[in-house]
Amino acid sequence: MSARPIYLDCHATTPVDKRVLEVMIPYFTEHFGNPASVNHLYGWETEAAVKQARQIIADAINATPTEIIFTSGATEANNLAIKGVAEAYFSQGRHLITVATEHHAVLDPYDYLQSLGFEVTLLGVKPDGLIDLTELEEALRPDTILVSVMAANNEIGVLQPLAEIGKICRDRQILFHTDAAQALGKIPLDVEEMNIDLMSLTAHKIYGPKGIGCLYVRRRQPRVKIAPQIHGGGQERGIRSGTLYTPQIVGFGAAVKLALSEMATEAKRLTQLRDRLWNQLSTLDNIRLNGHPTQRLPGNLNVSIDGVDGQALLLALQPTMAVSSGSACTSTRIEPSHVLKALGVPENLAYASLRFGIGRFNTEAEIDQVAQEAIATIKVLRRVVSTR
Ligand SMILES: *Cc1c(COP(=O)(O)O)cnc(C)c1O
Repeated sequence: MSARPIYLDCHATTPVDKRVLEVMIPYFTEHFGNPASVNHLYGWETEAAVKQARQIIADAINATPTEIIFTSGATEANNLAIKGVAEAYFSQGRHLITVATEHHAVLDPYDYLQSLGFEVTLLGVKPDGLIDLTELEEALRPDTILVSVMAANNEIGVLQPLAEIGKICRDRQILFHTDAAQALGKIPLDVEEMNIDLMSLTAHKIYGPKGIGCLYVRRRQPRVKIAPQIHGGGQERGIRSGTLYTPQIVGFGAAVKLALSEMATEAKRLTQLRDRLWNQLSTLDNIRLNGHPTQRLPGNLNVSIDGVDGQALLLALQPTMAVSSGSACTSTRIEPSHVLKALGVPENLAYASLRFGIGRFNTEAEIDQVAQEAIATIKVLRRVVSTR
C-alpha cells in the first residue's frame, strides 16, 4: 500500500486524539444513560459526566457552566446566536453588522435575515485581513442589535482584536458575538475581559469528535436574551432541545482540557513549523503570504503563487499532501475564496492559493518533505506555463 498524503488541512478538521477517544468510549456502551433521566443511576452518571465537561469548557473561556449551550457544532451555534438574537431583539432594532471574511456559517444566516427584512452592514478588511475599528464604530447605529466578528479566520488565520471590538460594543450596549471555532485551545479567550456576549465553539478543530460544539450565551450582566431555534424536550434551559449526546460532550471536554494544557508549548512548536515552511517556500520568486504576517494562528500558512494554474497545482500535490485551496466549506463552489477577494488578492492569484493547516501530529520532517515537493512542483508547472 502506498503511503497516505501528509495531512495539512487542520482548519477543515482534525483527527480525534487517542487520549480523547479513550475517555469517550465507555459512554457509548456501559454509561449510555440519558442525562435527563433523573430516576436512576444510568441518568445520574451521564449527567455527572456532562456536568464535568460543561465546567471544563466554561472555565476555558472564563464563563459559568449555565452559560454553555451544547449544539451540534459551530454552524448550529452561529445560527442559534444570530437568528436567536435577531428574533429576541427585533423590536429594539433591525440592523446587524458582520465582516466580509466570516465563515459561511455566519454570512448565510445574515443573508437569510436580510431576506426577512433586517438590514445588514458588511465590514471590509484591510489588506492584512484585520478589520478597521474606526469603520466598525462608524457603522454602529442606534438600531444596531448585533455585531459578529470571528476570532480567528479559517482561511488566513488572522486574529481579530476581540477585546477592542468588545469594548466598543459594550460601551454602546450592542451585543457582540464571535465565531471562535478556530481560536479555541489555540489562543487565550476570556468572555469577561473581552466583553463577549455570545461565542460559538466546536470540538473537531481541536482533536475532539465531530458533531459537537456549543454556544456561550452571557447570563451574567448584561444578560442576553435568545430565541430557541430548535423546540422540544426543553434541554439546555429550553434554548436547545434534544437528548444530550453524552460521548461527544465528554470528548469535547477532554479535547478542551488537553488543548489548554498544551496550548503554550504547542503554539510555539507550530509557529516554528509554520515559519520553517514559509522560509523554504519563500525562496521561490513571486510567492506571497496572505493575511497578517504575525497576528495569525500559529499553524496557519496561506500563500498565493504567481504563474501556475491553481487546479493543476492542487492535483499535482494530492498524492503527497492534503492541503486546501481556500476553504473546504466553499470547495463545491468554483468561485475563488471570498476571503482572499476581500483582502484584495487579484483573481488569478486567488485561484492559485494554498492553505496549509499545521497541527498536533505534524513533524519537522513532514514540513521539509512538503516544502521540497511543493517547490519542485511549482517550478515544473511554471515551466509548463511559460513554454505554452
Ligand atoms: C469549522 C468552522 C465552522 C463550522 O463548524 P462545525 O462545527 O463544523 O459546524 C464555523 N466557523 C469557523 C470559523 C470554522 O472554522
